[in-house]
Amino acid sequence: MASGSHSDAEDGLMVEFASLQLQDKPDKPPKHYRCGVCHEIGQHFINFCPQALKTGVKTPYQGKRRAFGEYQCCECRRLWQSSRSWANMAQECQSCRIRIYPHRQTPLHKPGGLDKIDQDKKHPAELCEKCTKLGYSCVLHNSKESVASPADEEDD
Ligand SMILES: [Zn+2]
Ligand SMILES: [Zn+2]
Ligand SMILES: [Zn+2]
Repeated sequence: MASGSHSDAEDGLMVEFASLQLQDKPDKPPKHYRCGVCHEIGQHFINFCPQALKTGVKTPYQGKRRAFGEYQCCECRRLWQSSRSWANMAQECQSCRIRIYPHRQTPLHKPGGLDKIDQDKKHPAELCEKCTKLGYSCVLHNSKESVASPADEEDD
C-alpha cells in the first residue's frame, strides 16, 4: 500500500542478502583437513577461515616466490596439487569454477626438486589467479624473477 518508488531497490538488496547468507554456511571440510592459516583441523575450509578474513593472510605461504600447493574444493571436494602456487593466490576448481586457496604450501627453494615433477604438465593458466592477475602465464613470471633477483630466494 505504502512504498511506491523505492520498492525495487529494496527487493534487490534482499536478494543479495539472501545469497550472502547462504555462502556463510559452508560445509565442514573432511576431518583431516587442516586450515593452513589458523591450523585448525576439520573446522572450515581455508576459503572460509575467520582469521584469514581478519588478517588478509589467505595462504600458509607468504613469500614472494612460488610454492608447491595442495588445494581442496569446498564444493565438490576435489583435491589437486600445483607446483605453481603463490602467496594469497587461489586456483579455480576445474568443475565448479570457484576460487580455492591452498590449505597447504611447501616452498620450492630447491630447483630440480619437486619442481621437476610438474615441468612437462601444462599449467592451467585460466584457473590460476596469479596468471589472471599478471595477464600472462606465471610460469614465465617465475623464470624472469629468478634471473632478476637470485639473492631474494632465502628471504622469507
Ligand atoms: Zn582457518
Ligand atoms: Zn569443485
Ligand atoms: Zn599461474
